[in-house]
Amino acid sequence: MVMNKRCIYCKIEIPQESVIDFCSRCGIGVWGEKMFNAIVKNMEEARSKGDLVSTNIGDNSREHNSS
Ligand SMILES: [Zn+2]
Repeated sequence: MVMNKRCIYCKIEIPQESVIDFCSRCGIGVWGEKMFNAIVKNMEEARSKGDLVSTNIGDNSREHNSS
């Protein structure tokens, strides 16, 4: 069952593909518009690189180098 993603602050529904766990309104309220935009930008860049640390359990990193 697919649950819609919700803002951790106000519980409003946010897009499933959103890189953040809160709505822009709350994000701006917490960090300010400038900081919020920077955070979103960083998160999107990280995701596009595949660097976003997801909470997926059981997804073993194949490229993890153990020394
Ligand atoms: Zn919110």
